[in-house]
Amino acid sequence: MQETKLWINGQWEQAQRTYELTSPYSGEVLAKVAKANSQDVERAIEGAHQAFQTFKKTTAYERAEMLYKVVDIMRKRKQELAEILAKEAAKPISAGVAELDRTIATYQFSAEAAKQSTGETVPMDAAPGITDRIGYTKRIPLGVVSAITPFNFPFNLVAHKLGPAFAVGNTVVLKPATQTPLSAIVMAEIFKEAGLPDGCLQIVTGSGGELSDTLVAHPHVKKVTFTGSGAVGLKLKEKVGLRKITLELGSNAAVIVEPSAPIEKIVSRAVSGAFGFAGQVCISLQRIYVHASIYDEFVRQFVMETKKLRVGDPLDTNTDVSAMIHPNEVGRMQAWIAEAKIQGAVIATGAEFTERTLSPTVVTNVTAQMKIVCEETFAPIVSIVSYETLAEAIALVNESELGLNAGIYTNVLTDAMYAADELEAGAVMINDIPTFRVDHMPYGGVKMSGYGKEGVKYAIEEMTNLKFITIKTTF
Ligand code: NAP
Repeated sequence: MQETKLWINGQWEQAQRTYELTSPYSGEVLAKVAKANSQDVERAIEGAHQAFQTFKKTTAYERAEMLYKVVDIMRKRKQELAEILAKEAAKPISAGVAELDRTIATYQFSAEAAKQSTGETVPMDAAPGITDRIGYTKRIPLGVVSAITPFNFPFNLVAHKLGPAFAVGNTVVLKPATQTPLSAIVMAEIFKEAGLPDGCLQIVTGSGGELSDTLVAHPHVKKVTFTGSGAVGLKLKEKVGLRKITLELGSNAAVIVEPSAPIEKIVSRAVSGAFGFAGQVCISLQRIYVHASIYDEFVRQFVMETKKLRVGDPLDTNTDVSAMIHPNEVGRMQAWIAEAKIQGAVIATGAEFTERTLSPTVVTNVTAQMKIVCEETFAPIVSIVSYETLAEAIALVNESELGLNAGIYTNVLTDAMYAADELEAGAVMINDIPTFRVDHMPYGGVKMSGYGKEGVKYAIEEMTNLKFITIKTTF
């Protein structure tokens, strides 16, 4: 069986403790994974600080070339990497390949961004009495970045930290999710082969809760970048002090379907947004608000399409939906659905459980107070609600404390623009589901969904200091 080690200063190091990694789908033991302690993390941070002293002096060309090599290597190893996702995350193989395609794009955007980190000239003579000064800005790397990542996109969300950080000359200590260490560990090999100097990437596997204080509050850590749940994000924000922090958190994403939308053209897309990777996506479609005039027909077609999805083995190319990440998560959904039913919710399809799976579930007759509506479900479940006016639909979307992406389908331009202005979200998709994301667009939530932005260029802004330099041109 595979036994993993910690990746510190370009060497594989045995940890004092290990934990067993099991497959979410079959329960079989996949690996014995190194469990770092806080001294390991301290050494990793100190090594990354040391490596930064030379890495910050590399040229944009050198960093871009290294990232382009990562792109090449990942292209060649795509299928093998997707299989890691199927095993450790129960991600259906087709979804795994799609994640790898996006990951490769994220590293490619990062390689391109390495060469575009520019500043601006400040017109110094705009100030009264200034006649002999030039002023300009430039972006300066921060130093050691602590990156803490979740289980649901283990390659691409790691890429959203490593790509921008390395593009501008930062070094990184990466702490992947306990359930998805293998996809992070393989990146050590890939970056080494691509020529990243030792110490620039440190990978410490183990418990986020145990390692949190060191990862966040070590004096050499200059930036924390976290993707994960709101509860953990809030704790980190309280600990981080004056360091920079980016928090990419959860949501209960919604779409509005206006009467002008052609139902038959949007249903299958909405179904994929609701049930992709068993709904364990931060912008998974969880709430659908449909105008009363088309509600019954929309529900009928949506349920019909949902019933076509196949639940099964993530390694089977015909599987659409596989296991949830842990049996406890299935248990949580069992309780939430039971509670919603007592409160009057109606199951239109789904709600069939095994120890590890929940079948794609569509619920109607819900209220805004039900947990399956107002909290992030992070599960293959969606509710469909009828409304009378667009203002009412927008108010229902905004009732949530969360606000990552939102969507509206309409052919009426003025309604689309009204919704774009009024929806409380980090991004609004017109004529698409909120699950849409490409990796160079600005991405990050409002309200309890996040703090700061990712999307390569925007992550770079948050991973650098803006330095101003002025030259007096005469004595
Ligand atoms: P999670 O439980 O919050 O874990 C995320 C990471 O934080 C893991 O590496 C975890 O380590 C670590 N962690 C846990 N407790 C910690 C603590 N006290 N201090 C420091 N780190 C700690 O989230 P998850 O279940 O993996 O992922 C699901 C959540 O992520 C959902 O809420 C989802 O919406 C959100 N998400 C957001 C985005 C976005 O871009 N906005 C993208 C994807 C996912 P362990 O695994 O060792 O506990």
